[in-house]
Amino acid sequence: MIGLLGGTFDPIHFGHLRIALEVADALDLEQVRFIPNRVPPHRRQPLASGAERLAMIQSAIQGEPRFVADDRELRQEQTSYTVHTLQALHQEFPHQSWAFIIGADAFLQLTSWYEWQTLFDLTHFIVVGRPGYALTTSETTWFQPYLVDSLADLTKHTVGKVLVLNIQGLDISATQLRNLIARGQSPRYLTPDAVWSMIQTQQLYKSKV
Ligand code: ATP
Ligand code: MG
Repeated sequence: MIGLLGGTFDPIHFGHLRIALEVADALDLEQVRFIPNRVPPHRRQPLASGAERLAMIQSAIQGEPRFVADDRELRQEQTSYTVHTLQALHQEFPHQSWAFIIGADAFLQLTSWYEWQTLFDLTHFIVVGRPGYALTTSETTWFQPYLVDSLADLTKHTVGKVLVLNIQGLDISATQLRNLIARGQSPRYLTPDAVWSMIQTQQLYKSKV
């Protein structure tokens, strides 16, 4: 099974890297692919370009052989929806099964994603905790039909299941890093030194937030 971690990664930080590693270990994934989004024109734009966000991912994952930077959404002319990305991955790796890793904050928004129900024909979802977001509210009933209790139950199916793992998530966000840098403070120890070096060299996140 291959893990997928989609996001803006503006910039990548230890919160992303820890959930990727912890899920890879828990599920014995052969790979986790980091897929930076191309943000649609009507949404708030990332402060770093696609190329810069990709370069930061590449430097952050260096030395972890299971981690791969996948730039397929950045290479698209238009906004690529997750459903299309998953379809392309199925074509490229026809015999794989997929574990889409997602934080609780993003998972709670899943029903607003383009063709969200079709996603369950293409992948499993592995939900991890995110400080400040709880899954135990009444808004969570929509995913009960997809929910499994254990990894053993998940692997009985090739797609379409939701496994909530007991992984807390670090209290780190890209917003927090951007705010620190814009205030002239250091984001060191929240992201790999290689990423912080790149941010300084390219003078990213210095002004606008
Ligand atoms: P921003 O503050 O700009 O929204 P972010 O830190 O939330 O950035 P994203 O690129 O939006 O990072 O997140 C991509 C994916 O990683 C989402 O599924 C999100 O839930 C998850 N994620 C990011 N940071 C964490 C964290 N600290 N703990 C758990 N999940 C996280
Ligand atoms: Mg986010």
